[in-house]
Amino acid sequence: MDQVYVDGPIHAEALDVLQGTTEVVSGFGPQAVEMEAALPSMHAVLLRTAPLGAEAIDRARSLRVIARHGVGVDNVALDAAARRGIPVLITPRANLRSVAEHAFALMLAVSRNVVRADRSVREGRFSSRDHLQGRELLGATLGVIGLGRIGGEVARMALRGFGMRVLGYDPWLPPGRIREWGAEPVEALPDLLGACDIVTVHVPLSEATRGLLGRRELASMRDGSILIQTARGGVVEEDALVEALRSGHLAGAGIDVYETEPPREGHPFFSMEEIVLTPHTAALTEQAMRRMALDATQGILDVLGGADPSDPPEGAGWRAFDPGPAAEPKE
Ligand code: NAD
Repeated sequence: MDQVYVDGPIHAEALDVLQGTTEVVSGFGPQAVEMEAALPSMHAVLLRTAPLGAEAIDRARSLRVIARHGVGVDNVALDAAARRGIPVLITPRANLRSVAEHAFALMLAVSRNVVRADRSVREGRFSSRDHLQGRELLGATLGVIGLGRIGGEVARMALRGFGMRVLGYDPWLPPGRIREWGAEPVEALPDLLGACDIVTVHVPLSEATRGLLGRRELASMRDGSILIQTARGGVVEEDALVEALRSGHLAGAGIDVYETEPPREGHPFFSMEEIVLTPHTAALTEQAMRRMALDATQGILDVLGGADPSDPPEGAGWRAFDPGPAAEPKE
């Protein structure tokens, strides 16, 4: 029987499916086995958040498929997997709506001072309502950086749901594709940053996107604008963001992902009221958790059963991660 390592808790329905057809070795719960110890005999890994490095992949001689519970692959040594010909599957559709909705949760929380307001009611400072004037999303300009699955959905929701004007920056997509989401394509990042009331980032973390929003980029954002970061820690430089907020240049930020998770004790974010923080929960809805687990499970069973990872069966909720264009943006 094939053996599958699951590093963290997954939806019960998916665990049942896996346990019915394979031997599951868990990295969690009372019978937890360390990934390092388990990997050499595993045929598949269903990976939540644990890092899967090159050495571990090299030692996993029976491994035939790695399935991510989600879409980010920055915790997998992709080169090592590619060298061994092991496909890395993602579940591209499972959590896109949840993350997109979370971006709006943060946008609304920041622009309507929801957290500050909550605290003031609980602490008996009801009259602080006079200092909690917010701003509407209607008519505001939203800049979306990265218009893939999540960024595209955010653009669509912003336009249709909130009546925002949407600008989109994604050098890998043809302008026509960006327009299909309802966003106006912008060719250069600084042009987008300087024209928006709220900027939301939806690019993967890679060497190319690390520090994409640093001191210079944050400085080119509009005075009094808001940044929403639900992509991956490292895409936004945290020190630069702290500076931009402390100087009053930016009005606020909504952050779900951090350079180090959890952020270190005493992180400057913790004492800044203009930031709304969530603990990497953008994708953690009941619906997304179920879909991610079921789609990743199906991917593992399909590939172990002989499916071609580059040609998933029709309707499958998984596909092999494709590193995409490495060097130059597309026209
Ligand atoms: P996707 O691959 O569909 O879209 C990413 C888009 O970013 C692509 O269109 C790509 O062309 C674009 N892009 C790449 N580099 C860029 C750059 N330098 N500037 C502008 N655009 C660039 O991915 P997705 O499903 O939309 O997810 C996006 C990211 O969101 C994931 O990679 C992941 O890191 C993050 N994410 C976070 C959570 C969370 O819990 N907070 C959950 C899911 C995904």
